[in-house]
Amino acid sequence: MPGAFDVSKDELTNLLPDQPRYRTLQVWRGLWEKGLRPGDMTDLPKDLRERLEGVLVPALHEVARSVSSDDQTTKWLWQLADGRRIETVLMLYPDRATVCVSSQAGCAMGCGFCATGQAGFDRQLSVGEIVEQVVEARRQALPRRLSNVVFMGMGEPLANYDRTWSAVELLHLNLGISARHITVSTVGVVPGIRRLAKEALPVNLAVSLHAARDELRDEIVPLNRRYPLALLMEACGEYLAAKGRRLSFEWALIDDVNDTHRDASELAELAFPLGAHVNLIPLNPTPGYATLGTPAEGVAAFRAWLGNLGVNATVRANRGTDIAAACGQLAARERPVTLRPKLRARAAQTGATLGSAAPNSPTGATLSSSG
Ligand code: SAH
Ligand code: SF4
Repeated sequence: MPGAFDVSKDELTNLLPDQPRYRTLQVWRGLWEKGLRPGDMTDLPKDLRERLEGVLVPALHEVARSVSSDDQTTKWLWQLADGRRIETVLMLYPDRATVCVSSQAGCAMGCGFCATGQAGFDRQLSVGEIVEQVVEARRQALPRRLSNVVFMGMGEPLANYDRTWSAVELLHLNLGISARHITVSTVGVVPGIRRLAKEALPVNLAVSLHAARDELRDEIVPLNRRYPLALLMEACGEYLAAKGRRLSFEWALIDDVNDTHRDASELAELAFPLGAHVNLIPLNPTPGYATLGTPAEGVAAFRAWLGNLGVNATVRANRGTDIAAACGQLAARERPVTLRPKLRARAAQTGATLGSAAPNSPTGATLSSSG
């Protein structure tokens, strides 16, 4: 049975043939505008509520909800109707709230540094499964208004193009989240970027670059072998020309891998002509990748090099690491992200932040929040 947010307005009307039109609208508004489950739509007659509970079922069943030590980040682990699991992250800021949604259960792109990539691909998410993550986060964010949606959870949104795009349209039209506050992040699916450029709604585009020469990017991001940098930059240029929206390059700084002056120069050569903004984030540790994030001094130096080359860069706050909710850590497992002993020894040497031993962790190490 499709989830409540996979039911269109016409389908809802057909589900309620005996009801007057205003009732269908009432149900629709209850669901989309107020985020109510049918059982909580107290302005409906009781028998109708009960009937609707059998047809407008939630697609997401909460398995676990973790809140970071500073209360500003919430991560959900959801179970879908077929038993697959996905995660969603809500980040609160003083004046806004952003939800990071999954677009697929798992991911087939195989980036070795990413926990989702390490776990492999399960299946595409439906439109309703994507939308419902936003509806749930909107409820939790109250009294703050959920203002921004980023497709930076599990999965590659442009490898689930049609459903991702339908979800964007519904968020814009039915939930009142302007496309200008929606960011689609891609590892570089060139045909998908070209399609995005032709859509009517202007979303922000984030490209996860991580390396600015093919030889290195082929290693870090396997999809680069199919869509090398020259093609990718051409598609980014088309997107900019068509949409005029902000383009950003995501760069996970990996110690001794992509954090040298040479890397900064190569990145600037790509970013400068496109006016792209660079988001730097020290790599978050994951169980399957034996390399650490660049230490703080290295991050600052990299940012300064970019600045000298005329490229604006922001160091992204590392949210929710203590609940394994940070970028790249989503793996839909209940256990915390653990580091293997070798990695822990290196972390100790480089001064990376490690928390105290976790009782349920085999290696005894969990990550602590770095702010
Ligand atoms: N598949 C899309 C969107 C989901 S990944 C993409 O790759 O863009 C969201 C972001 O997390 C991407 O920028 C990705 O490169 C980044 N990421 C993945 N693993 C990471 C890690 N271990 N540390 C920091 N960022 C990571
Ligand atoms: Fe997939 Fe993005 Fe992770 Fe690469 S970084 S494996 S594309 S989710």
